[in-house]
Amino acid sequence: MRKISIFGATGSIGQNTIDLIRRDLDSYDVVALTGGANIARLAADAKALNAEVAVTAFEDRLDDLRTALIGSSVEAAAGQRALNEAAARPADWVMSAIVGVAGLAPGLEALKQGATLALANKESLVCAGSLLLETAKRHDASILPVDSEHSAVFQGLVGEDMDAVERIVITASGGAFRDWPLDQLGTATLAEASSHPNWDMGQRITIDSASMFNKAMEVIETREYFGVSPEQIEVLIHPESMVHALVGFQDGALMAHLGAPDMRHAIGYALHWPERRDLPVARLDLAKIGQLNFHTPDPLRYPALQLAYQVMARGGMMGTVFNGAKERVLDHFIESRIGFLDMATIVEQVLEHFESQSSLIDAAMTLDNVTKIDQLARQRADLVIAERTG
Ligand code: NAD
Ligand code: MG
Repeated sequence: MRKISIFGATGSIGQNTIDLIRRDLDSYDVVALTGGANIARLAADAKALNAEVAVTAFEDRLDDLRTALIGSSVEAAAGQRALNEAAARPADWVMSAIVGVAGLAPGLEALKQGATLALANKESLVCAGSLLLETAKRHDASILPVDSEHSAVFQGLVGEDMDAVERIVITASGGAFRDWPLDQLGTATLAEASSHPNWDMGQRITIDSASMFNKAMEVIETREYFGVSPEQIEVLIHPESMVHALVGFQDGALMAHLGAPDMRHAIGYALHWPERRDLPVARLDLAKIGQLNFHTPDPLRYPALQLAYQVMARGGMMGTVFNGAKERVLDHFIESRIGFLDMATIVEQVLEHFESQSSLIDAAMTLDNVTKIDQLARQRADLVIAERTG
């Protein structure tokens, strides 16, 4: 029996993970499931999977969770400290699928106890990449990518020598607005940005896909996982979302990973790695599909994308600034205080502000420093927005 925990179990990735686990319950001993405000979902899944503990991120929901778990042997807990404590409980495999920087501390705890961390929470890699990687190394733990593009690259590199890699190409669907007239983008509403043409995901990543902040994060994620230089990372618009990534080698070969847009593939690959097992995902019928399209992203349509290269060029803890500012402008967009295109403009201004602050940006990457810079970046984003809106 493998001991597993799922952080962010009530979200889109969490529910897809549970779908896979439920098909083969006898193979798993579920330690912790965590969620946020959806107590009914969390409790129902914790009972169905017979988890040791269920944790809600919100302390004021502890009583609700306790009530929902009456009659079961599942422990109830709440708050950030409880999340970290649950992550420290011994497990072989931990799914990190909390959205945002809140996923970082539990991810570090899971690595410290030597678990294999299946990492969907890309924010933690963008804001604290080397901290995560070094923690994994120090505790002899593994981090496995659970982002469709990075899982695809990871699979394309099996048996290959990194020295032979010339470039990595990750694809992007282009999001909700790929066909919109450019001059209308500024007026895009929350509802319009919250639907994705190909993938069914949480609200935040769906909006980030429309703005390409998601792809910007993934470019940084690619650099962290695979250690390639920024010039080796390319982004290609591919509206069908069937080719997830390609690895180019020095002999000119370009290896593509194809599959249906279903996160259960990347989750399942990380769950069974280094083996491959049967997964309940659709099989592609290429003859039926007929053609696949690719084109270069238009920088005017996707101003967020180039910010990733600016962040990597500056180095240090600029990724922490980028992620914090991005999370904050997204809050403001969701609350209708700023427009769709303002998000990239404001994040760029926040990056410029921190660019030369070497004592912060080039400090040692510890959890305390990451937390501090994350907070400062959010405050700066708030300030820029307050100045703009007068
Ligand atoms: P979601 O919004 O559907 O779910 C997020 C989960 O995190 C929920 O369980 C929620 O309760 C929990 N959560 C939210 N705020 C929290 C907090 N402050 N503290 C603790 N828990 C909190 O999001 P999702 O689409 O499942 O995405 C999860 C992560 O996976 C994100 O980092 C996202 O970028 C990444 N990811 C998602 C997809 C996808 O297809 N959905 C694909 C690739 C990567
Ligand atoms: Mg992705």
